[in-house]
Amino acid sequence: MDSVDVVVVGAGPNGLAAAVTMARAGLAVRVYERADTIGGGARTAELTLPGYLHDVCSAVHPMALASEFFRRFHLESRIELRTPELAYGHPLDGGRAGLAYQSIDETARMLGVDGPAWKRLFEPLVSHWQELAQFTGTSLLRVPRHPGLAAQFGLRAFEQGSPLWSLRFESDIAPSLLSGVQAHSILPLPGLAPAAAGLLLGSLAHAVGWPVPVGGSQAIVDAMADDLLAHGGEIVTQTEITSLDELPPARAVLLDVTPKSLLALGGDRIPRGYARSLGRFRYGNAVAKLDLALSDPVPWANEALRSAGTVHVGGTHAQIARSEAMVASGRHAQRPYVLVAQPSIIDPSRAPGGSHVLWAYTHVPSGSDVDQSETIIAQIERFAPGFRDTIIATSGRTAVEEEQGNPNYVGGDISAGAATFRQLVRRPTLSPYPWQTPVRGVYLCSSSTPPGPGVHGLGGWHAARRALATSFGIRRAPDLRPGR
Ligand SMILES: Cc1cc2nc3c(=O)[nH]c(=O)nc-3n(C[C@H](O)[C@H](O)[C@H](O)COP(=O)(O)OP(=O)(O)OC[C@H]3O[C@@H](n4cnc5c(N)ncnc54)[C@H](O)[C@@H]3O)c2cc1C
Repeated sequence: MDSVDVVVVGAGPNGLAAAVTMARAGLAVRVYERADTIGGGARTAELTLPGYLHDVCSAVHPMALASEFFRRFHLESRIELRTPELAYGHPLDGGRAGLAYQSIDETARMLGVDGPAWKRLFEPLVSHWQELAQFTGTSLLRVPRHPGLAAQFGLRAFEQGSPLWSLRFESDIAPSLLSGVQAHSILPLPGLAPAAAGLLLGSLAHAVGWPVPVGGSQAIVDAMADDLLAHGGEIVTQTEITSLDELPPARAVLLDVTPKSLLALGGDRIPRGYARSLGRFRYGNAVAKLDLALSDPVPWANEALRSAGTVHVGGTHAQIARSEAMVASGRHAQRPYVLVAQPSIIDPSRAPGGSHVLWAYTHVPSGSDVDQSETIIAQIERFAPGFRDTIIATSGRTAVEEEQGNPNYVGGDISAGAATFRQLVRRPTLSPYPWQTPVRGVYLCSSSTPPGPGVHGLGGWHAARRALATSFGIRRAPDLRPGR
């Protein structure tokens, strides 16, 4: 096999971010991807019927606007992102709902008695969102560039992640609204890591919004692949790498895989102490997904929700906490938390003739092979009577099938390793440069490294910067702007 400067294994958003960064530094890069198509957790496909574009994994992309990698890459000038004014909503029984608009003032107005408390919680973070994105976008072992903001964030995360969470609010709407965002972490509530996730995503909703790409998430990775190819890179699909020995000679190898796969790929080349450390990395609770083709928008009882990009279904804080606790103890909840995205309300190109697509998943125990389609539909119907009548076609995927589709989702854990506080600090090992492995020239760049899950490309960006510095002596950040 002919040699290259850099090999990347895995064409997910992090693998492609690493590849783009290395190619922009003038190096010859080749990417190997096991699937037929590129994109990993950011692919779009006709999962139900011809003409219905479903996001196979990720759907909603606050980090597309906030991540350092995508800002340097000028993603927003390469693809069209549409941002619903109502970022996320949260139905409650009786037709009530929490509504989080991009405008924090409008959100506070809708929250009534708890509006001022909501503003006090979020405003300091929203007004410094770039510093917040910088601080949360790397290893937590790095000294924060903005210690004041880090302290404000930490104090709020401590409050919302502890039994103090309920003291700030009077009604049940604001805590429910917040729990819906915290539950993205797929962890029991309250907890430090869910609180931090809720504060970060909640702040970004007010700062930049929660956009969806026109045409689907595939547009993001296609823009990265286009840039890579334009700078001499190559992508080889339908090629699963099972050992580092299969790779062509290269000075740096960047792996968009989990620690579990790194152990398998590296075999005897992995030093024993490091292997033990990787073996201690824990994979978390899982998701089961449902994509739907609909004749009409979801008939939410609370009509405002019909314009929300994202809807968090599951009821009050107490109900969500209960169902997440069941999942964490290995059981399926009857009325679980369901994350719903309605991309076609703002991007009609997703479905033909004024019809719609709906994207939903729920949390299940690791390794679950239980089809959750009916459970998800029943939860949505609970807050949107008549929903069933709008369904034209469905496509469901169990947690086991998530892993079959992508080995990074061990047991159906879409975070590629539980995003607990401990594993946000030690991801996957305790080091200020956890992207670098002790095997010479081998780097880990997946979401099993900081800053963890999400389509932000930052795992790839940090790993590539480290590889440029240590394997090539290049310390200057490559220019990622279009047309360079
Ligand atoms: C159902 C679901 C919903 C999600 N929703 C959102 C969302 O709305 N917003 C958001 O920001 N994030 C979301 N995420 C998370 C997000 O998709 C991931 O965190 C992100 O894709 C991780 O990027 P990555 O490059 O690290 O890994 P992946 O995207 O998982 O890519 C890894 C790639 O490597 C390939 N690969 C692995 N092993 C090998 C091998 N041995 N040889 C060759 N190729 C290999 C895989 O096939 C895959 O293409 C969601 C994920 C899922 C599954």
